[in-house]
Amino acid sequence: MKNTQTYYDEIKQKFAEERDLRLHYRPEGTAQFTSDFTGELAKYALDPYGGEIVPRQPIVDTVEVLFIGGGFSALLTSARLRERGVESIRIVERGADVGGTWYWNRYPGVACDVVSYDYLPLLDEMDYVPKDHYAKGPEILAHCQAIAKKYDLYELAVFQTTVTSTVWNSEEQMWHLETNRGDHMKARFVICANGTLAKPKLARIDGLESFKGHSFHTSQWDYDYTGDELENLEDKVVGIIGTGATAVQAIPGLGEASRELYVFQRTPSSIDIREDWPTDPNWARSLKPGWQAKRRERALSGPPLTVEQKAARDAMSAEEKIRLQENANIDYMMRIHRRIEATVKDEATAEALKPWYMFMCKRPCFHNDYLPTFNRPNVHLVDTHGKGITEIAERGPLFAGKLYELDLLIYATGFEVQKTGIYNEIIGVDGLDLADKYATGVRTLLGVHSAGYPNLFIMGGYQASFQFNLTYILQMQGDHIAECIAHTRSHGHKTIDATQAAEERWVQEVIANRGKTTRNQDCTPGYYNFEGEHQRRQDGNYNGGVTKYLAHMKGVRENMAENFSFSQ
Ligand code: NDP
Repeated sequence: MKNTQTYYDEIKQKFAEERDLRLHYRPEGTAQFTSDFTGELAKYALDPYGGEIVPRQPIVDTVEVLFIGGGFSALLTSARLRERGVESIRIVERGADVGGTWYWNRYPGVACDVVSYDYLPLLDEMDYVPKDHYAKGPEILAHCQAIAKKYDLYELAVFQTTVTSTVWNSEEQMWHLETNRGDHMKARFVICANGTLAKPKLARIDGLESFKGHSFHTSQWDYDYTGDELENLEDKVVGIIGTGATAVQAIPGLGEASRELYVFQRTPSSIDIREDWPTDPNWARSLKPGWQAKRRERALSGPPLTVEQKAARDAMSAEEKIRLQENANIDYMMRIHRRIEATVKDEATAEALKPWYMFMCKRPCFHNDYLPTFNRPNVHLVDTHGKGITEIAERGPLFAGKLYELDLLIYATGFEVQKTGIYNEIIGVDGLDLADKYATGVRTLLGVHSAGYPNLFIMGGYQASFQFNLTYILQMQGDHIAECIAHTRSHGHKTIDATQAAEERWVQEVIANRGKTTRNQDCTPGYYNFEGEHQRRQDGNYNGGVTKYLAHMKGVRENMAENFSFSQ
Protein backbone atom coordinates (compact mmCIF):
# COMPACT_ATOMS: atom_id res chain seq x y z
CA MET A 1 0.00 0.00 0.00
CA LYS A 2 1.24 3.47 -0.89
CA ASN A 3 2.08 5.72 2.09
CA THR A 4 0.13 8.96 2.42
CA GLN A 5 1.83 12.36 2.25
CA THR A 6 0.87 12.84 5.93
CA TYR A 7 2.99 9.78 6.79
CA TYR A 8 6.01 11.36 5.06
CA ASP A 9 5.36 14.79 6.56
CA GLU A 10 5.26 13.35 10.08
CA ILE A 11 8.61 11.64 9.56
CA LYS A 12 10.06 14.87 8.17
CA GLN A 13 8.78 16.62 11.30
CA LYS A 14 10.58 14.06 13.49
CA PHE A 15 13.78 14.60 11.43
CA ALA A 16 13.48 18.35 12.10
CA GLU A 17 12.99 17.81 15.85
CA GLU A 18 16.05 15.55 16.07
CA ARG A 19 18.12 18.14 14.16
CA ASP A 20 16.92 20.98 16.40
CA LEU A 21 17.73 18.99 19.52
CA ARG A 22 21.34 18.60 18.34
CA LEU A 23 21.65 22.26 17.29
CA HIS A 24 20.35 23.21 20.73
CA TYR A 25 23.00 21.09 22.47
CA ARG A 26 25.89 22.43 20.41
CA PRO A 27 25.17 25.85 18.87
CA GLU A 28 28.93 26.43 18.62
CA GLY A 29 29.06 24.34 15.41
CA THR A 30 32.54 23.26 14.32
CA ALA A 31 34.06 25.03 17.36
CA GLN A 32 32.92 22.06 19.47
CA PHE A 33 36.02 20.25 18.14
CA THR A 34 39.74 20.86 18.32
CA SER A 35 42.53 19.61 16.12
CA ASP A 36 45.18 21.62 17.93
CA PHE A 37 47.05 18.78 19.54
CA THR A 38 49.62 20.74 21.49
CA GLY A 39 50.24 20.89 25.25
CA GLU A 40 48.33 18.20 27.11
CA LEU A 41 46.84 16.93 23.86
CA ALA A 42 50.27 16.38 22.21
CA LYS A 43 50.01 12.62 22.68
CA TYR A 44 47.18 12.58 20.12
CA ALA A 45 49.53 13.96 17.45
CA LEU A 46 51.99 11.06 17.56
CA ASP A 47 52.55 8.71 14.65
CA PRO A 48 52.46 5.15 15.98
CA TYR A 49 53.40 3.64 12.61
CA GLY A 50 56.43 5.64 11.50
CA GLY A 51 58.97 4.79 14.20
CA GLU A 52 61.33 7.31 15.70
CA ILE A 53 61.92 10.55 13.84
CA VAL A 54 65.55 10.29 12.80
CA PRO A 55 67.42 13.62 12.89
CA ARG A 56 68.62 14.78 9.47
CA GLN A 57 70.27 17.78 7.89
CA PRO A 58 67.87 20.44 6.59
CA ILE A 59 67.25 20.14 2.86
CA VAL A 60 68.11 23.20 0.79
CA ASP A 61 67.46 22.52 -2.89
CA THR A 62 65.14 23.07 -5.87
CA VAL A 63 62.68 20.73 -7.54
CA GLU A 64 60.30 21.27 -10.40
CA VAL A 65 57.07 19.98 -8.84
CA LEU A 66 56.45 19.70 -5.11
CA PHE A 67 53.42 18.04 -3.54
CA ILE A 68 52.33 18.98 -0.04
CA GLY A 69 50.97 15.61 1.10
CA GLY A 70 51.59 12.08 -0.17
CA GLY A 71 48.12 10.55 -0.49
CA PHE A 72 46.13 9.68 -3.57
CA SER A 73 46.07 13.31 -4.83
CA ALA A 74 49.86 13.38 -5.12
CA LEU A 75 50.17 9.83 -6.46
CA LEU A 76 47.57 10.22 -9.20
CA THR A 77 48.86 13.57 -10.39
CA SER A 78 52.48 12.37 -10.31
CA ALA A 79 51.59 9.43 -12.55
CA ARG A 80 50.20 11.85 -15.14
CA LEU A 81 53.22 14.18 -14.79
CA ARG A 82 55.61 11.30 -15.36
CA GLU A 83 53.64 10.32 -18.47
CA ARG A 84 54.28 13.89 -19.67
CA GLY A 85 58.00 13.68 -19.03
CA VAL A 86 58.32 15.61 -15.75
CA GLU A 87 61.34 14.24 -13.92
CA SER A 88 61.84 16.30 -10.80
CA ILE A 89 58.90 15.48 -8.49
CA ARG A 90 58.98 15.67 -4.69
CA ILE A 91 56.40 14.61 -2.15
CA VAL A 92 56.65 16.22 1.29
CA GLU A 93 54.60 14.21 3.77
CA ARG A 94 53.84 14.29 7.51
CA GLY A 95 53.65 10.48 7.74
CA ALA A 96 56.58 8.11 7.24
CA ASP A 97 55.31 6.79 3.90
CA VAL A 98 52.87 7.58 1.12
CA GLY A 99 49.18 6.66 1.43
CA GLY A 100 47.57 9.62 3.24
CA THR A 101 44.26 8.46 4.71
CA TRP A 102 45.33 4.87 4.23
CA TYR A 103 48.63 5.47 5.98
CA TRP A 104 46.92 6.84 9.08
CA ASN A 105 43.74 4.81 9.27
CA ARG A 106 44.81 1.33 10.30
CA TYR A 107 42.12 0.66 12.88
CA PRO A 108 40.80 -2.92 13.00
CA GLY A 109 38.25 -3.52 10.26
CA VAL A 110 39.38 -0.58 8.09
CA ALA A 111 38.03 -0.89 4.56
CA CYS A 112 36.63 1.31 1.82
CA ASP A 113 32.89 1.67 1.23
CA VAL A 114 33.30 2.39 -2.46
CA VAL A 115 33.56 -0.68 -4.70
CA SER A 116 37.27 -1.45 -5.08
CA TYR A 117 37.23 -1.62 -8.89
CA ASP A 118 36.05 2.01 -8.89
CA TYR A 119 37.89 3.31 -5.86
CA LEU A 120 41.45 2.01 -6.32
CA PRO A 121 42.91 4.30 -8.95
CA LEU A 122 45.26 3.58 -11.86
CA LEU A 123 44.24 -0.08 -12.04
CA ASP A 124 44.87 -0.17 -15.78
CA GLU A 125 48.28 1.45 -15.45
CA MET A 126 49.23 -0.77 -12.51
CA ASP A 127 47.86 -3.89 -14.20
CA TYR A 128 46.14 -4.75 -10.92
CA VAL A 129 42.73 -6.12 -10.04
CA PRO A 130 41.71 -5.76 -6.37
CA LYS A 131 41.28 -8.93 -4.32
CA ASP A 132 37.69 -8.27 -3.22
CA HIS A 133 34.61 -6.31 -4.23
CA TYR A 134 35.43 -3.96 -1.31
CA ALA A 135 39.12 -3.38 -0.57
CA LYS A 136 40.50 -3.46 2.95
CA GLY A 137 42.87 -0.82 4.29
CA PRO A 138 46.15 -2.77 4.00
CA GLU A 139 45.52 -3.60 0.34
CA ILE A 140 44.84 0.07 -0.43
CA LEU A 141 47.99 1.20 1.40
CA ALA A 142 50.03 -1.40 -0.52
CA HIS A 143 48.50 -0.09 -3.77
CA CYS A 144 49.61 3.46 -2.85
CA GLN A 145 53.14 2.20 -2.19
CA ALA A 146 53.16 0.29 -5.48
CA ILE A 147 52.17 3.46 -7.38
CA ALA A 148 54.97 5.40 -5.65
CA LYS A 149 57.45 2.69 -6.64
CA LYS A 150 56.26 2.35 -10.23
CA TYR A 151 56.43 6.10 -10.83
CA ASP A 152 59.71 6.48 -8.95
CA LEU A 153 58.36 8.84 -6.32
CA TYR A 154 60.37 7.61 -3.34
CA GLU A 155 63.66 8.98 -4.64
CA LEU A 156 62.97 12.65 -3.85
CA ALA A 157 60.23 12.13 -1.25
CA VAL A 158 60.68 13.65 2.19
CA PHE A 159 58.71 11.99 5.00
CA GLN A 160 57.97 12.88 8.64
CA THR A 161 58.03 16.49 7.53
CA THR A 162 55.34 19.17 7.56
CA VAL A 163 55.37 22.21 5.29
CA THR A 164 54.87 25.33 7.41
CA SER A 165 55.01 28.08 4.81
CA THR A 166 54.85 28.45 1.02
CA VAL A 167 55.88 31.85 -0.28
CA TRP A 168 55.97 33.07 -3.89
CA ASN A 169 59.18 34.76 -4.96
CA SER A 170 58.29 37.01 -7.92
CA GLU A 171 61.86 37.65 -8.96
CA GLU A 172 62.81 34.00 -9.16
CA GLN A 173 59.30 32.92 -10.25
CA MET A 174 59.62 30.14 -7.68
CA TRP A 175 57.85 28.98 -4.55
CA HIS A 176 59.97 28.92 -1.38
CA LEU A 177 58.85 26.36 1.20
CA GLU A 178 59.82 26.05 4.86
CA THR A 179 59.17 22.94 6.93
CA ASN A 180 59.12 21.93 10.58
CA ARG A 181 62.49 20.21 10.00
CA GLY A 182 64.29 23.44 9.07
CA ASP A 183 64.24 22.74 5.33
CA HIS A 184 64.25 25.48 2.71
CA MET A 185 63.07 23.99 -0.55
CA LYS A 186 62.29 25.78 -3.78
CA ALA A 187 59.80 24.51 -6.32
CA ARG A 188 58.52 25.82 -9.61
CA PHE A 189 55.09 24.24 -9.21
CA VAL A 190 53.40 23.46 -5.88
CA ILE A 191 50.40 21.21 -5.50
CA CYS A 192 48.40 21.29 -2.27
CA ALA A 193 47.56 17.61 -1.98
CA ASN A 194 46.96 17.58 1.73
CA GLY A 195 43.71 15.65 1.79
CA THR A 196 40.10 16.48 2.54
CA LEU A 197 39.84 14.90 6.00
CA ALA A 198 43.47 14.80 7.05
CA LYS A 199 43.54 16.36 10.52
CA PRO A 200 42.09 14.22 13.31
CA LYS A 201 39.85 16.12 15.70
CA LEU A 202 38.68 15.61 19.26
CA ALA A 203 35.48 16.85 20.81
CA ARG A 204 36.21 19.54 23.41
CA ILE A 205 34.93 17.49 26.33
CA ASP A 206 35.39 18.79 29.88
CA GLY A 207 38.09 16.83 31.69
CA LEU A 208 39.35 15.08 28.54
CA GLU A 209 42.97 15.63 29.63
CA SER A 210 42.32 14.22 33.09
CA PHE A 211 41.53 10.65 31.98
CA LYS A 212 44.12 8.36 33.57
CA GLY A 213 43.46 5.26 31.46
CA HIS A 214 44.88 4.69 27.98
CA SER A 215 43.40 6.62 25.05
CA PHE A 216 43.98 7.35 21.37
CA HIS A 217 42.24 8.59 18.22
CA THR A 218 41.22 5.93 15.67
CA SER A 219 43.71 7.29 13.10
CA GLN A 220 46.60 6.63 15.51
CA TRP A 221 45.69 3.13 16.59
CA ASP A 222 48.01 1.90 19.33
CA TYR A 223 48.56 -1.75 18.44
CA ASP A 224 51.30 -1.94 21.09
CA TYR A 225 48.50 -1.53 23.62
CA THR A 226 45.72 -3.57 21.98
CA GLY A 227 47.88 -6.27 20.36
CA ASP A 228 47.90 -6.82 16.58
CA GLU A 229 44.79 -9.01 16.80
CA LEU A 230 43.34 -7.04 19.75
CA GLU A 231 44.30 -9.98 21.96
CA ASN A 232 45.37 -7.67 24.83
CA LEU A 233 41.80 -6.41 25.22
CA GLU A 234 40.56 -9.72 26.57
CA ASP A 235 40.67 -8.40 30.15
CA LYS A 236 40.01 -4.74 29.33
CA VAL A 237 36.99 -2.50 29.63
CA VAL A 238 36.96 -0.40 26.48
CA GLY A 239 34.92 2.66 25.50
CA ILE A 240 34.56 4.28 22.09
CA ILE A 241 33.18 7.78 21.53
CA GLY A 242 31.50 8.24 18.16
CA THR A 243 29.47 6.06 15.81
CA GLY A 244 30.47 7.41 12.38
CA ALA A 245 31.90 5.40 9.45
CA THR A 246 35.15 4.64 11.32
CA ALA A 247 33.48 3.42 14.51
CA VAL A 248 31.05 1.28 12.52
CA GLN A 249 33.99 -0.66 11.08
CA ALA A 250 36.00 -0.85 14.32
CA ILE A 251 33.20 -1.79 16.73
CA PRO A 252 32.55 -5.39 15.57
CA GLY A 253 36.21 -6.34 16.18
CA LEU A 254 36.31 -4.46 19.47
CA GLY A 255 33.10 -6.13 20.61
CA GLU A 256 34.58 -9.54 19.93
CA ALA A 257 37.93 -8.83 21.59
CA SER A 258 37.10 -6.69 24.65
CA ARG A 259 35.96 -7.93 28.03
CA GLU A 260 33.35 -5.16 28.00
CA LEU A 261 32.72 -2.56 25.31
CA TYR A 262 30.81 0.69 25.86
CA VAL A 263 29.75 2.54 22.72
CA PHE A 264 28.98 6.21 23.42
CA GLN A 265 26.56 7.34 20.73
CA ARG A 266 25.36 10.85 19.93
CA THR A 267 23.76 10.21 16.54
CA PRO A 268 23.43 6.77 14.93
CA SER A 269 24.73 6.05 11.43
CA SER A 270 22.54 4.46 8.79
CA ILE A 271 23.75 0.88 8.27
CA ASP A 272 22.90 -0.97 5.09
CA ILE A 273 23.94 -4.41 3.83
CA ARG A 274 27.47 -4.84 2.52
CA GLU A 275 27.61 -7.16 -0.45
CA ASP A 276 31.20 -8.27 -0.55
CA TRP A 277 32.86 -11.15 -2.35
CA PRO A 278 36.32 -12.21 -3.50
CA THR A 279 37.13 -11.15 -7.03
CA ASP A 280 36.32 -13.88 -9.56
CA PRO A 281 39.65 -14.73 -11.23
CA ASN A 282 37.89 -15.54 -14.52
CA TRP A 283 36.30 -12.10 -14.53
CA ALA A 284 39.65 -10.51 -13.70
CA ARG A 285 41.31 -12.38 -16.57
CA SER A 286 38.59 -11.29 -18.99
CA LEU A 287 39.19 -7.56 -18.42
CA LYS A 288 40.42 -5.64 -21.44
CA PRO A 289 42.90 -2.73 -21.25
CA GLY A 290 41.12 0.49 -20.32
CA TRP A 291 38.40 -1.35 -18.39
CA GLN A 292 38.50 0.85 -15.31
CA ALA A 293 38.18 4.13 -17.18
CA LYS A 294 35.16 2.72 -19.07
CA ARG A 295 33.62 1.41 -15.86
CA ARG A 296 33.97 4.80 -14.15
CA GLU A 297 32.41 6.57 -17.14
CA ARG A 298 29.46 4.18 -17.08
CA ALA A 299 28.96 4.73 -13.34
CA LEU A 300 28.91 8.47 -13.91
CA SER A 301 26.19 8.44 -16.53
CA GLY A 302 23.85 6.15 -14.51
CA PRO A 303 21.02 4.08 -16.00
CA PRO A 304 19.27 5.94 -18.85
CA LEU A 305 15.64 7.05 -18.33
CA THR A 306 12.97 5.50 -20.56
CA VAL A 307 10.94 7.85 -22.80
CA GLU A 308 7.95 7.49 -20.42
CA GLN A 309 10.07 8.19 -17.34
CA LYS A 310 11.58 11.25 -18.98
CA ALA A 311 8.14 12.57 -20.02
CA ALA A 312 6.75 12.05 -16.51
CA ARG A 313 9.73 13.84 -14.99
CA ASP A 314 9.45 16.79 -17.38
CA ALA A 315 5.76 17.18 -16.53
CA MET A 316 6.50 17.63 -12.81
CA SER A 317 6.99 20.97 -11.09
CA ALA A 318 10.20 21.60 -9.12
CA GLU A 319 8.30 21.15 -5.83
CA GLU A 320 6.85 17.83 -6.98
CA LYS A 321 10.29 16.59 -7.96
CA ILE A 322 11.71 17.51 -4.54
CA ARG A 323 8.76 15.84 -2.76
CA LEU A 324 9.18 12.68 -4.81
CA GLN A 325 12.89 12.54 -4.00
CA GLU A 326 12.28 13.19 -0.31
CA ASN A 327 9.63 10.50 -0.07
CA ALA A 328 11.88 7.95 -1.76
CA ASN A 329 14.64 8.98 0.62
CA ILE A 330 12.33 8.45 3.63
CA ASP A 331 11.30 5.03 2.27
CA TYR A 332 14.97 4.08 2.18
CA MET A 333 15.59 5.26 5.75
CA MET A 334 12.54 3.35 7.02
CA ARG A 335 13.95 0.23 5.39
CA ILE A 336 17.15 0.88 7.37
CA HIS A 337 14.95 1.10 10.52
CA ARG A 338 13.27 -2.22 9.73
CA ARG A 339 16.67 -3.86 9.27
CA ILE A 340 17.63 -2.72 12.78
CA GLU A 341 14.36 -4.06 14.26
CA ALA A 342 14.97 -7.41 12.58
CA THR A 343 18.58 -7.67 13.78
CA VAL A 344 18.91 -6.10 17.23
CA LYS A 345 17.14 -8.16 19.89
CA ASP A 346 16.87 -5.62 22.70
CA GLU A 347 14.04 -3.25 21.80
CA ALA A 348 15.39 -0.15 23.53
CA THR A 349 18.81 -0.64 21.90
CA ALA A 350 17.18 -1.13 18.50
CA GLU A 351 15.17 2.09 18.94
CA ALA A 352 18.30 4.01 19.93
CA LEU A 353 20.17 2.77 16.84
CA LYS A 354 17.60 4.22 14.42
CA PRO A 355 18.85 7.23 12.45
CA TRP A 356 16.29 10.03 12.10
CA TYR A 357 17.50 12.08 9.15
CA MET A 358 17.45 11.94 5.37
CA PHE A 359 19.78 9.52 3.60
CA MET A 360 23.12 11.26 2.80
CA CYS A 361 22.76 13.88 5.56
CA LYS A 362 25.59 11.86 7.05
CA ARG A 363 27.99 9.46 5.41
CA PRO A 364 25.99 6.24 4.89
CA CYS A 365 27.57 3.05 6.23
CA PHE A 366 27.44 -0.55 5.01
CA HIS A 367 28.27 -3.38 7.38
CA ASN A 368 26.96 -6.86 8.11
CA ASP A 369 28.40 -7.29 11.63
CA TYR A 370 27.84 -3.88 13.21
CA LEU A 371 24.20 -4.25 14.25
CA PRO A 372 24.53 -7.89 15.47
CA THR A 373 27.43 -6.75 17.70
CA PHE A 374 24.84 -5.09 19.95
CA ASN A 375 23.35 -8.53 20.67
CA ARG A 376 26.56 -9.53 22.46
CA PRO A 377 26.22 -9.54 26.26
CA ASN A 378 29.55 -7.68 26.68
CA VAL A 379 28.61 -4.79 24.34
CA HIS A 380 26.63 -1.87 25.76
CA LEU A 381 25.20 1.06 23.82
CA VAL A 382 25.24 4.26 25.84
CA ASP A 383 22.85 6.40 23.85
CA THR A 384 23.21 10.07 24.74
CA HIS A 385 20.29 11.00 22.43
CA GLY A 386 21.94 13.88 20.63
CA LYS A 387 23.71 15.31 23.65
CA GLY A 388 27.02 13.49 23.38
CA ILE A 389 29.60 12.97 26.08
CA THR A 390 30.28 16.29 27.75
CA GLU A 391 32.42 15.23 30.70
CA ILE A 392 35.29 12.84 31.28
CA ALA A 393 36.67 12.05 34.74
CA GLU A 394 39.95 10.39 35.73
CA ARG A 395 38.42 6.93 35.40
CA GLY A 396 36.13 7.43 32.42
CA PRO A 397 33.27 9.33 30.75
CA LEU A 398 30.23 10.50 32.67
CA PHE A 399 26.74 10.52 31.29
CA ALA A 400 23.43 11.16 33.07
CA GLY A 401 25.15 10.97 36.46
CA LYS A 402 26.80 7.62 35.77
CA LEU A 403 30.56 7.06 35.57
CA TYR A 404 31.75 4.53 32.99
CA GLU A 405 35.07 3.22 34.30
CA LEU A 406 37.37 2.26 31.44
CA ASP A 407 40.85 0.92 30.81
CA LEU A 408 40.89 2.21 27.24
CA LEU A 409 39.00 5.11 25.66
CA ILE A 410 39.03 5.37 21.85
CA TYR A 411 38.06 8.60 20.11
CA ALA A 412 36.26 7.93 16.82
CA THR A 413 35.40 11.62 16.58
CA GLY A 414 36.47 12.17 13.00
CA PHE A 415 38.51 14.74 11.11
CA GLU A 416 38.55 18.45 10.39
CA VAL A 417 37.15 19.22 6.94
CA GLN A 418 39.65 20.76 4.59
CA LYS A 419 37.84 23.76 3.20
CA THR A 420 40.52 25.47 1.22
CA GLY A 421 43.33 23.07 0.51
CA ILE A 422 45.58 25.03 2.79
CA TYR A 423 46.98 23.90 6.08
CA ASN A 424 50.14 25.97 5.86
CA GLU A 425 50.68 29.66 5.22
CA ILE A 426 50.56 30.37 1.48
CA ILE A 427 51.71 33.83 0.42
CA GLY A 428 51.08 34.84 -3.18
CA VAL A 429 52.20 37.50 -5.66
CA ASP A 430 51.20 40.59 -3.65
CA GLY A 431 52.25 39.15 -0.31
CA LEU A 432 48.65 38.16 0.27
CA ASP A 433 48.05 35.16 2.51
CA LEU A 434 45.61 32.81 0.72
CA ALA A 435 43.70 32.41 4.00
CA ASP A 436 43.22 36.22 4.08
CA LYS A 437 42.08 36.25 0.46
CA TYR A 438 39.50 33.58 1.34
CA ALA A 439 38.40 35.40 4.50
CA THR A 440 35.78 37.29 2.50
CA GLY A 441 34.79 34.17 0.54
CA VAL A 442 36.61 31.38 -1.27
CA ARG A 443 37.72 32.48 -4.73
CA THR A 444 39.03 29.92 -7.20
CA LEU A 445 38.84 28.71 -10.75
CA LEU A 446 37.45 25.14 -10.68
CA GLY A 447 38.47 24.87 -7.01
CA VAL A 448 41.99 24.23 -8.33
CA HIS A 449 43.53 27.61 -9.23
CA SER A 450 43.39 30.93 -7.39
CA ALA A 451 44.39 34.19 -9.09
CA GLY A 452 47.57 35.70 -7.67
CA TYR A 453 49.00 32.28 -6.79
CA PRO A 454 50.84 31.28 -9.97
CA ASN A 455 51.94 27.68 -10.45
CA LEU A 456 49.92 26.66 -7.38
CA PHE A 457 47.23 23.99 -7.63
CA ILE A 458 44.76 22.88 -4.97
CA MET A 459 43.31 19.38 -4.88
CA GLY A 460 40.18 18.24 -3.06
CA GLY A 461 39.30 21.74 -1.86
CA TYR A 462 36.17 23.89 -2.05
CA GLN A 463 34.44 25.03 -5.25
CA ALA A 464 35.26 21.69 -6.88
CA SER A 465 32.74 18.98 -7.50
CA PHE A 466 32.33 16.27 -4.90
CA GLN A 467 31.77 12.60 -5.58
CA PHE A 468 31.20 9.66 -3.27
CA ASN A 469 34.09 8.02 -5.11
CA LEU A 470 36.64 10.64 -4.17
CA THR A 471 39.52 9.13 -6.16
CA TYR A 472 37.55 9.76 -9.35
CA ILE A 473 37.45 13.51 -8.76
CA LEU A 474 41.07 13.52 -7.61
CA GLN A 475 42.09 11.72 -10.80
CA MET A 476 40.20 14.25 -12.92
CA GLN A 477 41.88 17.11 -11.06
CA GLY A 478 45.26 15.37 -11.37
CA ASP A 479 44.79 14.96 -15.14
CA HIS A 480 43.83 18.63 -15.41
CA ILE A 481 46.80 19.85 -13.36
CA ALA A 482 49.27 17.68 -15.28
CA GLU A 483 47.85 19.08 -18.53
CA CYS A 484 48.22 22.68 -17.27
CA ILE A 485 51.83 22.06 -16.21
CA ALA A 486 52.65 20.31 -19.49
CA HIS A 487 51.12 23.22 -21.45
CA THR A 488 53.14 25.76 -19.46
CA ARG A 489 56.38 23.84 -20.00
CA SER A 490 55.87 23.03 -23.66
CA HIS A 491 55.07 26.67 -24.52
CA GLY A 492 58.20 27.89 -22.77
CA HIS A 493 56.22 29.78 -20.14
CA LYS A 494 57.51 30.15 -16.61
CA THR A 495 54.18 30.58 -14.89
CA ILE A 496 50.48 29.93 -15.26
CA ASP A 497 47.97 31.91 -13.21
CA ALA A 498 44.17 32.07 -13.37
CA THR A 499 42.90 35.47 -14.53
CA GLN A 500 40.66 37.49 -12.23
CA ALA A 501 37.90 37.30 -14.85
CA ALA A 502 38.05 33.51 -15.11
CA GLU A 503 38.03 33.23 -11.33
CA GLU A 504 35.03 35.55 -11.05
CA ARG A 505 33.12 33.54 -13.66
CA TRP A 506 33.74 30.38 -11.66
CA VAL A 507 32.73 31.94 -8.33
CA GLN A 508 29.45 33.01 -9.96
CA GLU A 509 28.95 29.52 -11.42
CA VAL A 510 29.45 28.02 -7.94
CA ILE A 511 26.99 30.48 -6.39
CA ALA A 512 24.41 29.85 -9.12
CA ASN A 513 24.50 26.14 -8.44
CA ARG A 514 24.26 26.23 -4.67
CA GLY A 515 21.30 26.56 -2.41
CA LYS A 516 18.64 25.25 -4.79
CA THR A 517 17.06 23.35 -1.91
CA THR A 518 17.12 23.79 1.87
CA ARG A 519 18.68 20.34 2.13
CA ASN A 520 21.80 21.45 4.00
CA GLN A 521 19.90 23.35 6.67
CA ASP A 522 17.31 20.56 6.99
CA CYS A 523 19.96 17.96 7.76
CA THR A 524 20.97 16.93 11.22
CA PRO A 525 24.34 18.48 12.07
CA GLY A 526 27.48 16.67 10.97
CA TYR A 527 30.62 17.44 9.03
CA TYR A 528 28.72 17.38 5.71
CA ASN A 529 26.88 20.59 6.70
CA PHE A 530 29.51 22.11 9.00
CA GLU A 531 27.62 21.09 12.11
CA GLY A 532 24.76 23.37 11.08
CA GLU A 533 26.89 26.53 10.79
CA HIS A 534 25.79 29.25 8.40
CA GLN A 535 27.81 29.24 5.20
CA ARG A 536 28.40 31.75 2.43
CA ARG A 537 27.07 30.40 -0.84
CA GLN A 538 30.49 30.31 -2.46
CA ASP A 539 32.18 28.49 0.45
CA GLY A 540 31.35 24.94 -0.46
CA ASN A 541 31.45 22.31 -3.15
CA TYR A 542 30.42 22.98 -6.72
CA ASN A 543 26.90 21.53 -6.86
CA GLY A 544 26.33 21.60 -10.61
CA GLY A 545 27.15 17.88 -10.88
CA VAL A 546 30.28 16.00 -11.84
CA THR A 547 29.50 15.87 -15.57
CA LYS A 548 29.11 19.64 -15.75
CA TYR A 549 32.22 20.15 -13.62
CA LEU A 550 34.29 18.00 -15.95
CA ALA A 551 32.88 19.80 -18.99
CA HIS A 552 33.90 23.14 -17.42
CA MET A 553 37.36 21.74 -16.75
CA LYS A 554 37.70 20.68 -20.37
CA GLY A 555 36.40 24.08 -21.50
CA VAL A 556 39.01 25.88 -19.40
CA ARG A 557 41.80 23.80 -20.95
CA GLU A 558 40.49 24.35 -24.46
CA ASN A 559 40.63 28.11 -23.87
CA MET A 560 43.87 28.40 -21.96
CA ALA A 561 44.60 31.93 -23.22
CA GLU A 562 41.22 33.18 -22.03
CA ASN A 563 41.43 31.66 -18.55
CA PHE A 564 45.08 32.03 -17.62
CA SER A 565 47.88 34.53 -17.83
CA PHE A 566 51.32 33.14 -18.61
CA SER A 567 54.74 34.67 -18.12
CA GLN A 568 57.90 33.90 -20.07
P1 NDP B 1 32.70 11.24 11.69
O1 NDP B 1 32.94 12.70 11.74
O2 NDP B 1 31.88 10.69 10.63
O3 NDP B 1 32.10 10.72 13.05
C1 NDP B 1 32.44 11.28 14.29
C2 NDP B 1 31.54 10.66 15.32
O4 NDP B 1 31.86 11.19 16.61
C3 NDP B 1 30.07 10.97 15.08
O5 NDP B 1 29.33 9.81 15.35
C4 NDP B 1 29.80 12.07 16.11
O6 NDP B 1 28.44 12.18 16.48
C5 NDP B 1 30.64 11.54 17.25
N1 NDP B 1 30.91 12.52 18.30
C6 NDP B 1 31.54 13.70 18.21
N2 NDP B 1 31.58 14.30 19.41
C7 NDP B 1 30.97 13.48 20.28
C8 NDP B 1 30.69 13.53 21.67
N3 NDP B 1 31.04 14.57 22.42
N4 NDP B 1 30.05 12.48 22.25
C9 NDP B 1 29.68 11.40 21.51
N5 NDP B 1 29.91 11.30 20.19
C10 NDP B 1 30.55 12.33 19.59
O7 NDP B 1 34.19 10.56 11.68
P2 NDP B 1 34.64 9.13 11.15
O8 NDP B 1 36.08 9.01 11.50
O9 NDP B 1 33.73 8.08 11.59
O10 NDP B 1 34.48 9.25 9.60
C11 NDP B 1 35.02 10.34 8.89
C12 NDP B 1 34.90 10.13 7.40
O11 NDP B 1 35.97 9.33 6.95
C13 NDP B 1 33.68 9.39 6.91
O12 NDP B 1 32.54 10.13 6.88
C14 NDP B 1 34.14 8.98 5.55
O13 NDP B 1 34.10 10.04 4.65
C15 NDP B 1 35.56 8.59 5.84
N6 NDP B 1 35.58 7.15 6.14
C16 NDP B 1 35.28 6.29 5.13
C17 NDP B 1 35.23 4.97 5.37
C18 NDP B 1 34.87 4.07 4.29
O14 NDP B 1 34.94 4.30 3.12
N7 NDP B 1 34.43 2.94 4.71
C19 NDP B 1 35.52 4.38 6.67
C20 NDP B 1 35.83 5.37 7.66
C21 NDP B 1 35.84 6.71 7.40
P3 NDP B 1 27.41 13.11 15.61
O15 NDP B 1 27.04 12.27 14.45
O16 NDP B 1 26.30 13.39 16.53
O17 NDP B 1 28.16 14.34 15.22
